[in-house]
Amino acid sequence: MRVVIVGAGMAAARLADGLAGHDVVLLGDEAHPPYNRILLSAVLEGTHDVSRLALGLADHVDVRVDSRVVEIHREEREVELADRSRLAYDALVLATGSIPTLPPIRGLVRVDGRLDERVHAFRSLDDCLRLDAAVPGAGRAVVVGGGLLGLQVARALAVRGLETEVVEGGEHLLRSQVDARAGAILARDLARLGTTTYTGARATRLTGEGLVLDNGFTLDSDLVVLTAGGRPSTALARRAALEVRRGVVVDDRLTTSDPHVHAIGDCAQHGGRVTGFVPPAWEQAGVLARILRGEPATYDGARTVARLRATGLDVAVLGEPLTAEGEVVEVSNPVVGSHRRLVVRDGVVVAATLVGDLSRVGLITQHFDRRTVLGPHEPGALLMPERTAPPPVLPDNAEVCACAGVSAGAVRACASVEEARATTRATTGCGGCAATVRDLITRSTPQLEGTHR
Ligand SMILES: Cc1cc2nc3c(=O)[nH]c(=O)nc-3n(C[C@H](O)[C@H](O)[C@H](O)COP(=O)(O)OP(=O)(O)OC[C@H]3O[C@@H](n4cnc5c(N)ncnc54)[C@H](O)[C@@H]3O)c2cc1C
Repeated sequence: MRVVIVGAGMAAARLADGLAGHDVVLLGDEAHPPYNRILLSAVLEGTHDVSRLALGLADHVDVRVDSRVVEIHREEREVELADRSRLAYDALVLATGSIPTLPPIRGLVRVDGRLDERVHAFRSLDDCLRLDAAVPGAGRAVVVGGGLLGLQVARALAVRGLETEVVEGGEHLLRSQVDARAGAILARDLARLGTTTYTGARATRLTGEGLVLDNGFTLDSDLVVLTAGGRPSTALARRAALEVRRGVVVDDRLTTSDPHVHAIGDCAQHGGRVTGFVPPAWEQAGVLARILRGEPATYDGARTVARLRATGLDVAVLGEPLTAEGEVVEVSNPVVGSHRRLVVRDGVVVAATLVGDLSRVGLITQHFDRRTVLGPHEPGALLMPERTAPPPVLPDNAEVCACAGVSAGAVRACASVEEARATTRATTGCGGCAATVRDLITRSTPQLEGTHR
């Protein structure tokens, strides 16, 4: 059976990996084979080398770069590429990701239709390399969009020595994930790290003087980075008359309105929701791999975990804390820049926000994933770790890496972080579990006494 996957991004790579024994063709329109997109801000920051981004693929996968699919011929079960060649499929998977939105700012696009040379998108490796090359000649940068991506990019540019400002149209930072109090703590953290944020302000024009905001400020800027959100990439599916709302609509078997066509990752809409993060994209890829291998599997859409990776800023969001119904248990300490909030329904953690202190994220994620029913004092205790108490010991079946679904036991079985990385794929997604993985391995590796190194 030939499985053709459109898009050679993070969901596609994970799915292809799970389809050993099949004829798998990955068609990507970028010039690079699949790479870890979420480490791009670390590359920009200078803490990650670009050579370590590649998502290794097994030999059964035929990856074709610079191969844009322009049409799906559903009757013939073929896709058509930009060079007009066609490729037949038994199963087609759309993993086309999302497209960054261009905010309505006058002057972003020049009369010749190209972006002003100060303006940068930040979605692909090529965007990252272009911005990286522009940093040495720049002194000031403005990031438009105060979401997870915007804050990562802003930190990266600040760490590179640029005077960096963030403009966010909403009333506070990370407005899709956290409440106003957590947003304010993040703004303070950023200010402490030297980055000014303008919230409730919209950029309206880019002129020779800089970026003009609707609050009267003009921000002098050599670089303007657009990170103001994105939308699922659905044009191909729409043209093929598949059911599309915000994303390509799929059922619990990740199948579209055509039984031979599936969709996963940022482009898919399941249960009325689109996602936009790696953990659900990889979970969908794992479920679809089982389905295509003929095993019973369904996707219930329950899991959304988002982590911000940037030096000096720690954020983890489980579920949908802004809309989840339940009782709120909250500890906020603006003085040290930490904010922890659990939404608990019938004793179960249904959502959580952790800003500034992720020391308990492993344990909280475990309860969240398993829907553990907690006693009345436990949610509070989770947020108020005793300073003198030893750190909690994660049981073997506790999940440590939300991106790759790796348990504490699987990590403990490895002799080194490198082995855990290679054999379990822990730390290869957002990297948020790196400290926990290191800690588990250090604690489980017998220390040699009386030896010299
Ligand atoms: C800079 C950046 C940082 C991020 N940081 C995080 C993070 O810290 N944590 C997190 O959980 N998520 C993060 N995300 C989001 C995360 O990267 C996505 O959720 C994830 O990549 C989704 O995987 P995907 O395969 O659906 O889409 P992508 O990885 O975006 O892959 C889609 C691919 O399809 C290609 N494509 C589209 N149309 C066609 C076509 N017609 N023909 C051929 N190819 C096509 C695209 O060019 C792209 O290469 C980040 C995103 C970006 C851009």
